[in-house]
Amino acid sequence: MIKFGPSGTCAEFTLAGHSHTVEVPAWLKEHDLDCFEYSFGRGVRIQESTAKAIGAEFAKENLEISVHAPYFINLATQEEEKAENNHRYIFDSLAALTFFGGNRCVIHPGSPLKAERGEAMALLLKRLEKVAELKHELGYDDKYLCLETMGKAAQLGSLEEVISMCALDKTFIPCIDFGHLNAREGGIFYTDDDYKRVIERLMKGVGEDKCRIMHVHFSKIEYSAKGEVRHLTFDDEKFGPPFEPLMRVFKEFDLQPYIVCESAGTQTRDAAMMKRYYYELER
Ligand SMILES: [Zn+2]
Repeated sequence: MIKFGPSGTCAEFTLAGHSHTVEVPAWLKEHDLDCFEYSFGRGVRIQESTAKAIGAEFAKENLEISVHAPYFINLATQEEEKAENNHRYIFDSLAALTFFGGNRCVIHPGSPLKAERGEAMALLLKRLEKVAELKHELGYDDKYLCLETMGKAAQLGSLEEVISMCALDKTFIPCIDFGHLNAREGGIFYTDDDYKRVIERLMKGVGEDKCRIMHVHFSKIEYSAKGEVRHLTFDDEKFGPPFEPLMRVFKEFDLQPYIVCESAGTQTRDAAMMKRYYYELER
């Protein structure tokens, strides 16, 4: 089933007197939301017992939890030592995800830095193949690795690049960040058809099954000529992209993605706004 929820907790959560992630499931229920993304952006630092306590609360409320692997992962790095560390960050994230009882781990693929783009992409694909192998050996076949489309044109993570990454393993699925795609391309989403083009390309590229269950990040994002500058809230009317046509397309294609809202500070409110809009659409 399609799911809506925020990435991380926001000021409202704190203002409502909450402080710990174990309180998130009740908070989501209050806001009629379905899922939550826990970010390990700056590193995987959580105790097994804490993660299990959080997981138990999510299970009790029948809500989903996904994780975001550290931002400093770069599978296209030229340095072999850093490439080894990537494995630790990915598999620590998957271990924590298991304690949480979730099944999706989002990852930023990487950047060429000073390397030539094609070479960097070839290296990244080789490294991802190794990740797929290890993932299988370590018993994580039941977890999805969600490869994210990135907001800056210089980063590896265009729609086409993510499609080719997903081809490497049956548990690799796309994390389509529509704000990122909009930012890296300088503004491409305005109408239903703009979104349909991407969904149709995905259907062909990764297959219907993976497209149907894809992971989605959604927020409005300010951009410059190089792409992403910063995340905005749904109050923005300048940069977009708009969520309404995307919700209509999800409904029309009967897709069942997990939609994680990454608005700057209003992610709970904005996720709930998307969900309400989606369910008010006529069948
Ligand atoms: Zn991300």
